[in-house]
Amino acid sequence: METRGRRPSWRASLRTRLVVWFAAVLAVTLLVFAVFLHVIVRRTLWRELDLRLHAQVDNSRARLAPLWTIDGLTEPTFIDPFDDDGRWLEVWSPEGILLFRSPAAEARPVGLGMPSRPMVVSFTAPGLGHARALDATTDIIGLPVVMRVIESEERVRTELRDLVWWTAAGLGLCLGVAAWGGYRLARRALRPMERLVEQAASVTAERLVHQFEVAHTDDEVGVLATAFNDTMRRLNVSFEQARRFSADASHELRTPVTAIRTVGQVVLQAGADADVARYREAVGSIVEEAERLTSLLDTLLLLSRADAGRVEMRRAAVALDVLVRDVVTECEVLAEEKGQALTVDTVPASVDGDAGLLRLAITNLVDNAIRFTPSGGRIAVRVSTPAGAVRIDVQDTGPGIPAEHLPRLFDRFYRVDAGRARRVGGTGLGLSIVQWAIALHDGRVSVDSTPGVGSTFRIDVPM
Ligand code: ADP
Repeated sequence: METRGRRPSWRASLRTRLVVWFAAVLAVTLLVFAVFLHVIVRRTLWRELDLRLHAQVDNSRARLAPLWTIDGLTEPTFIDPFDDDGRWLEVWSPEGILLFRSPAAEARPVGLGMPSRPMVVSFTAPGLGHARALDATTDIIGLPVVMRVIESEERVRTELRDLVWWTAAGLGLCLGVAAWGGYRLARRALRPMERLVEQAASVTAERLVHQFEVAHTDDEVGVLATAFNDTMRRLNVSFEQARRFSADASHELRTPVTAIRTVGQVVLQAGADADVARYREAVGSIVEEAERLTSLLDTLLLLSRADAGRVEMRRAAVALDVLVRDVVTECEVLAEEKGQALTVDTVPASVDGDAGLLRLAITNLVDNAIRFTPSGGRIAVRVSTPAGAVRIDVQDTGPGIPAEHLPRLFDRFYRVDAGRARRVGGTGLGLSIVQWAIALHDGRVSVDSTPGVGSTFRIDVPM
């Protein structure tokens, strides 16, 4: 799939989604705040208007009192006690007789009828527009009256309308600035990610060595890039191993095949001169090489199945002392042929494991000891049980292994002396198989060797 230069669609882009979410959350928050503000301001403005109406009733009572007599208003038509301040006021008697009316009330009658009971009411009237009336039962110099005062609502309504417009404008502006800022921020934050994508597109199997540049190792993208780099390093090691393994395997396979071909060609060239004995010898060595080839192929197959994790462990209680004695008995013939003293010393020891794999590991070690130790040497196999583990030591008086080879001794196809190892019939895979089989049992293989004195290979398996 082509990934180079591929960009996420506008709708799917993380950046867009981040900005949309951010703006949506901000919009809801601001909206709630605006509604809350509006409710509070609205309540305050209306309450103030009502307070003004009540204050006017009190103020009007005080102003009218000097003009009032026990019979009602004196000289009602000639005096305006409010100096024409434009207030709308009517004073009625409890029986519904109009006692006083201010000039403003005269000019703009409202048609609300006579005040019957105390109340506050909003209404519209020509000339007044939206207005609010208060009918209040009170008294002037002790005489009961009903007063009606009216105030225009226009100022309150205008202020509330302005508030709505201003909050809407402010909200829009805030959202615009926040979305713009969020977009810039998201772009900046995601730019390292885009760089990562560009770099990832250039990674191929041949160029797995790639390391992603990391600007800030502590931020999220940095952590991601570092994780990528670690994965890359691990992949690279695996690839390198696989590559080396197939190169080494091909090389190993060539040797017996070449030997078979050469032996065959030589007898064929001899033609009629060759006698039966010569043919027999050639066929014998071809069979020997074919056997070596078969064993190598079996080992390779086992290793590749192991790498793919396809080797199943058949776990059971395994008596290692019995198993070791068994292996030693099998190998005795080989040791005898070389005039070697092969001894075994065991204590009862049992582990939970796969008998087949454990036998393979021990056989490989004993077989190595016999093959590499010269005639007349000694090989001692011991089973002991130090704290919580079973230990198997295979000690020989062979040539030993120089210290510089020890770190790579268990690598596949690694040999200290390739020529000699081949001569004694090795594939270079024995120790890596030992290590793999013992690791499956959570165990450990180690080696202690002194050149010229001998080697001790040690297996430790938890009980
Ligand atoms: P090989 O099939 O060649 O024996 P191994 O993986 O079993 O491969 O061993 C790797 C190399 O380790 C051998 O080629 C040999 O050089 C060295 N080695 C293993 N066992 C011994 C030993 N007992 N004494 C000396 N060298 C050994």
